[in-house]
Formats: sequence, structure tokens, C-alpha cells
Amino acid sequence: MKTTSDVVIIGGGCMGASTAYHLTQYGVHDVVLIERESQLATGSTGRNAGGVRHQFSTPQNIQLSIESIRLIERFQDAVGYPMDFHQDGYLFLLSTPSSVETFQRNIDLQRSLGIDVNLVTPDDASRLAPGLKLDGVVAASYCARDGIADPNGLTMGFARAAQAAGVQIERGTDVTGITLDGDTITGVTTTRGAIATPVVVNAAGPHAARVAALAGLELPIEPLRRNIFIAQPPAHATAGVDFPDNHIMVIDSATSFYYHREGANILFGMGDPDETPGFDMTVRWDFLDSVVEVALSRLPILAEGSVSHAWAGLYAMTPDANAIIGSADSVVGLYLINGFSGHGFQHSPAAGRLVAAQIAGQDLDFDLSPFALNRFKTGAAAPEANFV
Ligand SMILES: Cc1cc2nc3c(=O)[nH]c(=O)nc-3n(C[C@H](O)[C@H](O)[C@H](O)COP(=O)(O)OP(=O)(O)OC[C@H]3O[C@@H](n4cnc5c(N)ncnc54)[C@H](O)[C@@H]3O)c2cc1C
Repeated sequence: MKTTSDVVIIGGGCMGASTAYHLTQYGVHDVVLIERESQLATGSTGRNAGGVRHQFSTPQNIQLSIESIRLIERFQDAVGYPMDFHQDGYLFLLSTPSSVETFQRNIDLQRSLGIDVNLVTPDDASRLAPGLKLDGVVAASYCARDGIADPNGLTMGFARAAQAAGVQIERGTDVTGITLDGDTITGVTTTRGAIATPVVVNAAGPHAARVAALAGLELPIEPLRRNIFIAQPPAHATAGVDFPDNHIMVIDSATSFYYHREGANILFGMGDPDETPGFDMTVRWDFLDSVVEVALSRLPILAEGSVSHAWAGLYAMTPDANAIIGSADSVVGLYLINGFSGHGFQHSPAAGRLVAAQIAGQDLDFDLSPFALNRFKTGAAAPEANFV
């Protein structure tokens, strides 16, 4: 392992890999990416639902989506490696006049930024998502350019391209310390030796607060467990009739229950309002009944399906459900790409580019102030309302 480097990135999920790739695009090649597991993308990145959408409630999140989805759409041409992307749309089901009002405001904002999003009727919704039960649904918000992408493909694509451009990737290596001279970064210590460096990127996902603490910085980020279940439809069920024949993502905004096709199966999940912060990733099988109860009121064929497997992963939650992106002013040389609160996979292309641009000293073409760490002190936090 190298003993000096211009930049050390801690964490080999989608954020670390995207940052590494984009650093090389800005001419910074002396980079070491350190991942403690034996493989990349086994943290939150390897456990997510792959959802990619423009349908957010704040301009800055919509801008992150616009830039990220543009890159995802031409990933192979731009990055040089293939990645699955099914652009079959996202459908948010709305059951109350107030949710319609809120989503209409979001749609107006999204449209003002050039996104083709529409409020559609329940009839339209059932045409778009065969098998959907619409009891109580009064409208839906639909964007055809949203979709489902492959988190592993994206991470490995960025990582391979970064490696080909000179980035060293060290797996099976735990960063155990960050060394400082006063408030300035001088290096990291790891289970395989020390690296002197003036720049450290914290890309440690749900472990970001622990990594920041190594540099004496407090981050308001908490890990929160989410479960995903996979069901096999019964043999007599027909795709395109009983369940979608494409990869459309359907989200019941009242309950956060969501589903989409995953191969021949159906992937589904829902937020548990009683979940408390912690690092436990044991699947909450006892929560399945509550999910299925809601599932049956939206996709009845699931009643006859068999749940074949499940996994749990961790959201990295901030108090306003928005990420923290950019330099940590109080620790010179420390950069943050953390706290994506359940929607980070889709924002990793743009977020990684922005952190890389900042490190490379580029003029930023994006206002990062809504993502600055100090917003929690100044009271400038503007919560993301369209949180799933
Ligand atoms: C169930 C679930 C569903 C989700 N669905 C979606 C979705 O549909 N769409 C979407 O956009 N997002 C979704 N997300 C969120 C998304 O997965 C995350 O925002 C994203 O993966 C965060 O990436 P990351 O690189 O920051 O974190 P991670 O992928 O967790 O990577 C961090 C890495 O850092 C490593 N690490 C930590 N500490 C150290 C250390 N000290 N030394 C070395 N390495 C270290 C870890 O081992 C890990 O590999 C979902 C998340 C979950 C849990």
C-alpha cells in the first residue's frame, strides 16, 4: 500500500467510487480509496432498491437528480462500463387532497426545471402499473424518465474507470485514525499502515459519523434500518395483468410502501415508523406482516406470492433528510459526502463530481450551500419532503 497520496477516500460504496472517478476526470490521479470489506459496494449501496427519480421537493435535490440521471442514461459511453437502467417511470400514489396539493407544488417546481412530470388520474395509474389496486387513490404523480438502475454496476463502473486512471483501491483495510496538525489533516492510519495525505474524503455511508469523529468532527448522521423483501408471483399470475411487465416503481405516498419488478420477482418494502437508530442489519421478519397488510391493498397478487428472500440495510439519516456535501470547514482537508437519507444511490454521480470539483479547485457550477454542514447551526436547513 502507498504511504503518501494526494487524496484518501474512506469508503468503497457508490459515493467513494464516484468521487474517485470524478477526481481523475479533473486531473487528480494520486488517490487511494480504502474499503474495509473485501469487496466494494457491500454496504448501503449493495442493499438498496435501485430507484432513480427526478421527483423531489427541493430545487437542489432535483438538480442533483437532473445531473445524475443524465450520466446514468449514457453511463457506458461516458464511463466505459455497462450498467443496467430500466427507465420505466416512477408513480407516486396520492390519497388525500392535501397530498395532491403538495405533489402539485412539487410537479410545478420539477417542471420549472425542465422535467416532464404530470399529475395523472387513477385510470392512468392502473394502465401504467397493471395489477395495481387503487382504493382511496385520488391521483398520482408520474415521471417517465425516472427508473431503476443497478447500484453494483454503477459503483464497479466508476471504480474500474478510476483504477484504470491511476486510483489505487485497497480492500480489506479499515481506517482506524485520522491524523491532524492542529485543525489540518495530515494523514490516515489503517489496519495495513499509515498514509500521509492533505485531503480525506469521508464516504463511509451510515458509518460517516464514526469516521468524522476520528477527526474530532461531530456529524448529525444516524443509521436507520430498512428492510427489502422479494416475492415470487404465483405461477398463474400474468405479467402485464396481475403485476407490471416492466420495471415501473410504484410508491404509496401515504404509507411509503413501494414495489417494482426485480427480474421475474417483485421487490417491495416500506419504512417502519417504529424503527430506532442503530447498526443492526438483521431482517425484521416480524415487520413483514405489517408490510403485507399494506401490500395487499395495493398489489393483491402479492397475497398469493411467496416471499423468497429479504435483506436489511441502513439509511444514513440527517435531521432534514438531505445530504451533507463538501468541505468540512472546521477540519482543513476533510470533505464530506454523507447523510443521503435513503436517496443517495441516485445522487452519487453528481455528488461525487461536486466533491471532486471542490478538491480539484474547480469553479463550482452548483450552489452547495443547501448541503453545507453548517446549515444545522445557522437554521438554514430546508427538509426534503418527498422522502421514502
Ligand atoms: C434498503 C435501502 C433501500 C434504498 N433504496 C434506495 C433507492 O431506491 N434509491 C437511492 O437513491 N438510494 C437508496 N438507498 C440509499 C442508498 O443506498 C445510499 O444513500 C447509498 O448507497 C450511500 O452510499 P455510500 O457510498 O455513502 O455508503 P455505503 O454504500 O454504505 O458505503 C460506505 C462504505 O464505507 C465503508 N467504511 C465505513 N467505515 C469505514 C472505515 N473506517 N474504513 C474503511 N471503510 C469504511 C463501508 O464498509 C462501506 O462499504 C437505499 C438504502 C437502503 C438501506
